[in-house]
Amino acid sequence: MITIESLTKRYGGYTAVDQVTFSAAPGRVTGFLGPNGAGKSTTMRIMVGLTPASSGTATVLGRHYADLPNPGREVGVLLDASAQHAGRTGREILTVAARTIGVPKDRVDEMLARVSLTEEEAGRRVRNYSLGMRQRLGIATALIGDPEVLILDEPANGLDPAGIRWMRDLLRGFADEGGTVLLSSHLLHEIEVIADDIVVIGNGRIVAEGSKDDLLASAGTLVRSDDPVALAAALTAAGITTHTGGDGALRAEADAAAVGRTAFAAGVPVTELRAADGAGLEEIFLELTAETQREGAAA
Ligand code: ADP
Repeated sequence: MITIESLTKRYGGYTAVDQVTFSAAPGRVTGFLGPNGAGKSTTMRIMVGLTPASSGTATVLGRHYADLPNPGREVGVLLDASAQHAGRTGREILTVAARTIGVPKDRVDEMLARVSLTEEEAGRRVRNYSLGMRQRLGIATALIGDPEVLILDEPANGLDPAGIRWMRDLLRGFADEGGTVLLSSHLLHEIEVIADDIVVIGNGRIVAEGSKDDLLASAGTLVRSDDPVALAAALTAAGITTHTGGDGALRAEADAAAVGRTAFAAGVPVTELRAADGAGLEEIFLELTAETQREGAAA
C-alpha cells in the first residue's frame, strides 16, 4: 500500500504540495483527482524518489521508494509516457526494461499482448506512436516486473473512450488480484469510470477523500420544480442546503426521499427528482477546487 503523511513541497516561496495526507489500499484503484497545477505530479514524483520532499513522508509497501531492493519488481511507475526513448521500438524498450529489472525475456511478449500492442506496432519506433500507444507501452513497462503497486500519472491521457474502458478492466484485474493502484487525472469522468476510491487535490491541498460510492451519494439529489424559489425556500426551512444549477434545477444535500417529502409538505409540485450522481460530483469537484484556488489567491 501507499502511505502519504503530511507531505509538503515548496519551490522557493511557493507551496506546490501542502500537508498532503492520504493512502491507497491494496485491492483498490485509487484515483488522484485535481485540476492542472494542483500538485498531483509533484506528489507522485516524491513517492518514487524523483523529487525530494520539503517535509513529510511518502512510503510504498512500508518503505521509502529508494530503500526498496529492486523497485521495478515491487512498484510499476508511469509518470510521463512521452519520456520514452523516441528512437527505440516498443519491443526494444520493453526488452531493456526486462533486462534492467531481471525478468525473463518472454515477459516482453506477454506484456505486449496484455496491453494489446501488435507485433507490427511493437516493431515501430516510439516517435511514430500515437499518445495512446505510448500510454499502452508505458503501462506494459510498469507491469513488466510483476509489481504489487502501480503509480500512474495521467495514464488515460490520449486514450479514446474504448481505451479508457480497456484501462479500467486492466487496472480492475490488477486490483482484484490484490494489487494497489494509484492513478492521477485532471478529468473527473476518467476517475469516475476507473477508480474505487477518490482523493481530490486542489491547490496543493487534499479537499475531499472517500470511496466513489460515498462521494456520489454525498452529491445529493437533483430536484426541479416550476417554482424553484418556493422549492429552495421550503428545503432551506427544513434545514436542507441547496445549490442552484445553471438550468433551473436545484442540487439538495439530502437524499431523494427527504427532498420529496419536504416539497410535498410545502405544497410545491416537483417535476424531476433523482440522485445527482456524476453531475453532482462534477459540481462538487469544481466547487472544492475553486474554493482552494480562491484561498490560494488570497494567501
Ligand atoms: P499537476 O500534476 O496536478 O498538474 P504539478 O505537481 O505538476 O501539478 O504542479 C504543481 C505546482 O507546482 C504547479 O503550480 C507547478 O507550476 C509547480 N511546479 C512543479 N514543478 C516545479 C518546479 N520544478 N519548480 C517550480 N515550480 C514547480
